[in-house]
Amino acid sequence: MSRPTKIVCIGLNYAKHAAEFGNPIPKEPLVFLKPPSSLVATGEAIVMPAWAGQIDYEGEIGVRIGKRAKHVPKERAWEFVDGLCAINDVTARALQKGDGQWSRAKGFDTFCPVGPVTPLAKVDRNALSVTTRVNGQVRQQSGADDMVFDIPALIAHVTRFMTLEPGDLIATGTPSGVGALQPGDVVEVEVGGVGSVSNPVVAES
Ligand code: ZN
Repeated sequence: MSRPTKIVCIGLNYAKHAAEFGNPIPKEPLVFLKPPSSLVATGEAIVMPAWAGQIDYEGEIGVRIGKRAKHVPKERAWEFVDGLCAINDVTARALQKGDGQWSRAKGFDTFCPVGPVTPLAKVDRNALSVTTRVNGQVRQQSGADDMVFDIPALIAHVTRFMTLEPGDLIATGTPSGVGALQPGDVVEVEVGGVGSVSNPVVAES
């Protein structure tokens, strides 16, 4: 996979997830970034530093940009997508709550597992779903119809202020059911009809 110049993430984009954290549904998409240094492929370890406290999985639908995108109207947004993938927006939850800015909590090395990209032409865009399993047990399960802002709306919003380059990724937000990981776990995020990313969790030595 070509290395993205940035990984654009969307917070609180599923109504039931916003509710589980006691947050109101945002009036416009909440945007933050993960650094490319956080990327790992399927099979590679998520490394948990003990000092970081609670670390959570967040299963998400990933969008890979296919051509340079700026000021893209919603109606044309899919033209700029080259494929979809599964993303795990791994989060140091305790640090996120204290920091205000999320760069540290979301930006650790290995905190962005990304699965293989399936070309858009092979995906049923109207039947997208996210399932997250920890050690084989389902922890998150949602259709994309619980998203507050759909994928075209997110692309339009982000490209109003930021140029997206080919290979850039958008993590489109996580559904309800987020929870903690422990060393020894295996966490899998599956995007229905697209593919999955599966990673062992290890303690930092
Ligand atoms: Zn997330």
